[in-house]
Amino acid sequence: MSTAESLDIASLNQRFAAAEPLEIMRWACDAFGDKIAISSSFGAESACLLSLAVKVKPEIPVIFINTGFLFPETLAFRDDLRSRLKLNIKEVEPIMGHAAFLKEFGQLYQSDPDRCCQINKVEPLKRALEGLECWMSGVRGDQTAYRAGLPFVERKKDGLVKVSPLLRWHSKQVYEYLKKEGLPMHPLWEKGYTSIGCEPCTAVPGNPDDPRSGRWSGKNKSECGIHTFQDAPKA
Ligand code: SF4
Repeated sequence: MSTAESLDIASLNQRFAAAEPLEIMRWACDAFGDKIAISSSFGAESACLLSLAVKVKPEIPVIFINTGFLFPETLAFRDDLRSRLKLNIKEVEPIMGHAAFLKEFGQLYQSDPDRCCQINKVEPLKRALEGLECWMSGVRGDQTAYRAGLPFVERKKDGLVKVSPLLRWHSKQVYEYLKKEGLPMHPLWEKGYTSIGCEPCTAVPGNPDDPRSGRWSGKNKSECGIHTFQDAPKA
């Protein structure tokens, strides 16, 4: 039986209800050894999860999906944090090259953003997760209604264990942590971008009370799919 199969998920979530992110990360890294990775979009507040993770496991693989649609500032932020935190980044790209994708699909992000995300984000992530037993991500409950309902530890339908150590942290705790550690926000933060993904689908939030309201603005979409694809029933 694998580590993922043997876990008592309900007990773990009870145990972590009042735990700090570092305690949850230490447990996950001890439990899964070399079968664990984190993911990062190198978005607005990404330095927080990355900094905490390398405190626990300096060599932990960091999955980064380079969709081809990212802001140049995001790629510069990736390079900055790689240098500061000595990150072991595993960059993954869509199977179809970016130029070929644009030629075949044009502005798919306008006409069918779910399909665009499936091709450029979800499929590359699935490939990057192959062979792992645990994936740690930086999702927080204060980001979307979907995320507010997540537990700290889940066993997904595909068998992978997903761990969300920052789930109960709020943005203020993240900012305080980054300030204490002397770590930067994404360079576009100062221009008003409080949640940052692909350039065609990211704007300065129209609603200052909803930091993610600039993502897929006007599209009735709040998740790209990388945090929800494992919820779907097996085909
Ligand atoms: S966020 Fe936008 S551009 Fe990026 S993959 Fe999704 S739909 Fe495409």
